[in-house]
Amino acid sequence: MKAHDGMYIGGQWRPAAGPDTIAVVNPADEQVIAHVPAGTAEDVDAAVRAAREAFPAWAATPPAERAAGIAALRDVLVARKDEIAETVTAELGAPLALSRTVHAGVPVLVAGSYAELAASYSFEERIGNSTVLLEPVGVVGAITPWNYPLHQVVAKVAPALAAGCTVVLKPAEDTPLTAQLFAEAIHEAGLPAGVFNLVTGLGPVAGQALAAHEGVDLVSFTGSTAVGRQIGATAGAAVKRVALELGGKSANVILPSADLAKAVSVGIANVMSNSGQTCSAWTRMLVHKNQYDEALALAAAAVAKYVPGERVGPLVNAKQQQRVRGYIEKGLAEGARLVAGGPEAPYETGYYVSPTVFADVTWDMTIAQEEIFGPVLSILKYEDEEDALRIANGTVYGLAGAVWAADAAEAVAFARRMDTGQVDINGGRFNPLAPFGGYKQSGVGRELGPHGLSEYLQTKSLQF
Ligand code: NAP
Ligand code: MG
Repeated sequence: MKAHDGMYIGGQWRPAAGPDTIAVVNPADEQVIAHVPAGTAEDVDAAVRAAREAFPAWAATPPAERAAGIAALRDVLVARKDEIAETVTAELGAPLALSRTVHAGVPVLVAGSYAELAASYSFEERIGNSTVLLEPVGVVGAITPWNYPLHQVVAKVAPALAAGCTVVLKPAEDTPLTAQLFAEAIHEAGLPAGVFNLVTGLGPVAGQALAAHEGVDLVSFTGSTAVGRQIGATAGAAVKRVALELGGKSANVILPSADLAKAVSVGIANVMSNSGQTCSAWTRMLVHKNQYDEALALAAAAVAKYVPGERVGPLVNAKQQQRVRGYIEKGLAEGARLVAGGPEAPYETGYYVSPTVFADVTWDMTIAQEEIFGPVLSILKYEDEEDALRIANGTVYGLAGAVWAADAAEAVAFARRMDTGQVDINGGRFNPLAPFGGYKQSGVGRELGPHGLSEYLQTKSLQF
C-alpha cells in the first residue's frame, strides 16, 4: 500500500527526525503492507511549534471561512471514499462493505455537520451586563485509537478546526495509513499550513511526548482506560484541558413487553459489527427470567449468520486476538455457558475470533465487568425491573446502552435511571449531532455536534 515516509508538519511532508519505522500489518492475512515513520519527541516538538505558529491566524479567521475549509475537507473525503474504505480494510481488517458505509461514510457526515456548525454557531453570547466570548482553547493534541481509524480522527479534528484551534494528531500505530490519507485530504482541501499536523508513532513515545508537551493546551484522547488515566494525570499536573473517551460495557435491556426477536437480533448485530471493536457496543444483554430460554434460542440462531471472514472481520492485531480469547477462557472458567463460539481461533491465518455468545452470566463475572473489545456477548437473566437496573448500572463504565419496550415512554422511564451517556430507545438510529461520551469511568467530555464543539472553546466575559 501507498505510504508516506515522513510527517505532515506545517503544510508539507517532512522527513522524520529518527530512523525507526512501524510495520503496518493486514490482520486478515498477517502480511506487512507498508511502513511508516515512528515519531520521536523531536517530531512532536516540530509539529506543536507549527501548530502554535498557525494558531493566531486560524483563530482570527472568520467562522464562515473556517466553515468553508471544513466543507472542502468533507468534499475531498467524499471524492476519495473508495480509497479510504480500501485502506481501512487493509489495515484494520473490516469487511469492505462496513468500511464503505461506516468507516468512510460516517466521517463525511461528521465533517459536514461541523462545516454547518462552524457557520451557524454563536461564538458570542449576552448574559445580563456581560458579553461572553467563546474563544478557541489553542493547540490540541489529539491521540486516537484504531477501532474507527478515520471517524476517531474527524470527531476531534473537525470540531477543533471549527472552534479555531489548531491540531497535532498522533494516530494509533495499527492504523497510520488512514491518518496519512486524512492529512492528504486536509492538504487537498487547501487548509492553511500548520492548522493540522500529523506525527505517526508509538503511544509511549510520540503519544506521551504530545500529551506532556507544554505547547499543547488541550489533550483529546480516545482509547483504553489505563492510558486515559495516565493522560488525565499528566494533563492535570500541567493544569491543561483534557477530554477522555474511554471504554464501555454497555447494557442492552430488553423489558418483558418488548419485541423479543427484534431486540435480540439487533442486539447481536450491534455486538458483532466491527468484530466487537466498538467502545459503545451493547456487550451485556439483559433478559427477563421468563423469556431467558427463548432469548438464548433466538441469539443462537442470529449469531450463526455472522461468519468470520465474511460478515465478521479479524481483530486488529495478534495481541487483541489473544486478549479476547483469554476473556472467553476466563468466562468458561468462571462458570458461564457457551451458546455459540468459543476460545478456539476459527482460522490458522488472520487474527479472527469466533463470534461468541455466553449464557448463565452473572453480573459480577469478569466477562460482565471488563471491556472485551471482540465479538463476545454475555446474556444475563434479571428477576424484575429493579434487578435489571442494578445489573445495568453495576459496572465502572457508563458509555452507552439500549432499552426495548412495547412503547417508547416505558423504555424512556427506564433509560432515565441508567448511569450512561447515551441510550438507544427501541433501536434508535445513530445521530451524528448527539453528544457522545461517558458517565463514570467511561470518560470526561463529549464529542460530536454542538456539545463536541464546545469542548474546544473557552469563555471570556466582558462586563459593560
Ligand atoms: P490504547 O493503548 O489506549 O491506545 C489508544 C491511543 O493511545 C493509541 O494512539 C496509542 O498508541 C496511544 N497511547 C498508548 N499508550 C500511550 C501513552 N502512554 N501516552 C500517550 N498515548 C498512548 O489502546 P489499545 O492498546 O490500542 O487498545 C487496548 C484496549 O483499549 C482495547 O482492548 C479496548 O478495551 C480499549 N479501546 C477503547 C477504545 C474506545 O473507543 N474507547 C478504542 C480502542 C481501544 P499506540 O497505538 O501506539 O498504542
Ligand atoms: Mg496500545
